[in-house]
Amino acid sequence: MTNRKVLISGSGVAGPALAFWLVRAGWDVTVVERAPALRAGGYKVDVRGAATTVLHRMGLHAAAKELDTGMRQVTYVDKAGKRIAALPADLLMGRRGDDLEIMRGELGRLLHDAAGVDVRFGDSISEISDETVTFASGRVEDFDVIVAADGLNSSTRRLVMPEARIDHLGAYISIFDVPNDLGIDRDEIMYTEPGRLIFTYAMGPDQPAKVGMTFASGPLDYDRRDTEAQKDLLRAAFAGRGWRSDAFLAALGDAPDFYFDSLSQVHAPRYSAGRVVLLGDAGYCPSPAAGQGTSLALVGAYVLADQLTNGGGVEGYERVLRPYVEKNLIFGRKMAKDMVPGSRLAIGFRNYGMRTLRFHPRKEQVIDKVLAPMHEAANAITI
Ligand SMILES: Cc1cc2nc3c(=O)[nH]c(=O)nc-3n(C[C@H](O)[C@H](O)[C@H](O)COP(=O)(O)OP(=O)(O)OC[C@H]3O[C@@H](n4cnc5c(N)ncnc54)[C@H](O)[C@@H]3O)c2cc1C
Repeated sequence: MTNRKVLISGSGVAGPALAFWLVRAGWDVTVVERAPALRAGGYKVDVRGAATTVLHRMGLHAAAKELDTGMRQVTYVDKAGKRIAALPADLLMGRRGDDLEIMRGELGRLLHDAAGVDVRFGDSISEISDETVTFASGRVEDFDVIVAADGLNSSTRRLVMPEARIDHLGAYISIFDVPNDLGIDRDEIMYTEPGRLIFTYAMGPDQPAKVGMTFASGPLDYDRRDTEAQKDLLRAAFAGRGWRSDAFLAALGDAPDFYFDSLSQVHAPRYSAGRVVLLGDAGYCPSPAAGQGTSLALVGAYVLADQLTNGGGVEGYERVLRPYVEKNLIFGRKMAKDMVPGSRLAIGFRNYGMRTLRFHPRKEQVIDKVLAPMHEAANAITI
C-alpha cells in the first residue's frame, strides 16, 4: 500500500491532518489550496474528546496546549456596553481532561508545519475524470485517491456528489480582526440583540482582537468569491445596531483574513464516490454552532488514514466514523437554534440565567448537565 498517490484538496485543518498521517505511511502526498497562502483567519476553536487523543498520537498536543487561548472569563454586555454578567471561563466552557481551545489559524499552521508537505497554493481541481485530475492552472495528473478537504462549500464535493444536502441553519457568521480598543485580556465579551450576536476576544491587551458577528437570515444569494459583497451584507445587518456594531464595521475595510459563511450543515449520503473521499467540513460540516467542526476534521483525518493504510478502505472509514459524525450533526443543529436568540424575552431569560448562575449552590452540576450532550458527542467514537 505504500507509494500510493493521494491528492488532498484544501489546507485548512482536515487537509494537513490527513497529509501528516499519509506522509508517515509512505504515501506520495500532494496538497492543493485555492487561497494564495494558508488562511490564518477564524476565531478560537475547540478540540475536544476523541480529537485530543488524535493530537496526542500526532505528538502535537503539548504544542497545541502551548497555544491555548487561556480564556479567563465570559462577559455579557448590554447595548451600551454595560456589564450584565461575568462568569469564569472554567465554569462555563466545561472543558474536560485534555480538551483545549486554540485560534483556528494557529492550529492550521501547527498542522501544516507538522505535516511537512509543500502546498500548491493558488490552484484547485477543475475536473475529475476516470483517469485524471485537471487543475485550474491547466496541469493534468493522475492520483489513486482524491480527498475533498475543501470545506463547507467544497467544489470537489459538488463535482462528484452534487446530491449531498446542505442544510441552512438560519444564520450567517463572519470573523475578522479588529483593533483591541477595549484592551481585552482573555475575556470573551458577548452582546446579543434579537437576531444578532457579537462576540470578541483577544489573548492580551497588546494582542489584536478577533470579532465574530452573527445574524439570523434565510439563505442569501451572493458571490462567495466576492469579499466586498459579503462585507456589504454584514454592514446591512449591523449598521446602527447596539454596542460596538459601528466601530467593528469600521474595521472591516482593512480586515485581513475576513471570513464569512452561512451556519450550515453538510449531510452526505456517502463519504466517497469512486476514488474521491470527503473529509472534514466538505463531508460533514456540523456548523460553527456545534463547536465540533475542528474535532470532526482531526478525528476524520485519523480514521481515514488508518483505514486507507490498514486495509479497511473508504468503506471502513465511513463505517467507523459515521455514527460519531451523526451524533455531532444532531448536536450542532440543536446548538444553532439557540445561538442567535430571536426575541428580547429569550435574551432576557438567558441574561437572567447568567446573572444568577454565579450564586447557584450547585452551579457546576447545572453546567455539567447543560454540557453533557456536547461531551457525549465529542467522545462518541473509540479510536
Ligand atoms: C478562514 C476560515 C475561518 C474559519 N473560522 C471558523 C471559526 O471561527 N469558527 C468555527 O467554528 N469554524 C471556522 N471555520 C471552519 C472550521 O475551520 C472548520 O469547521 C473545521 O476546522 C474543519 O476544517 P476543514 O479543514 O474541513 O475546513 P476549512 O477549515 O474550512 O478548510 C478548507 C480549506 O480548503 C480551502 N479551499 C476551499 N475551496 C477550495 C478549492 N476548491 N480547492 C482547494 N482548496 C479550497 C479553503 O481555503 C480552506 O483553506 C473557518 C474556516 C475558514 C476557512
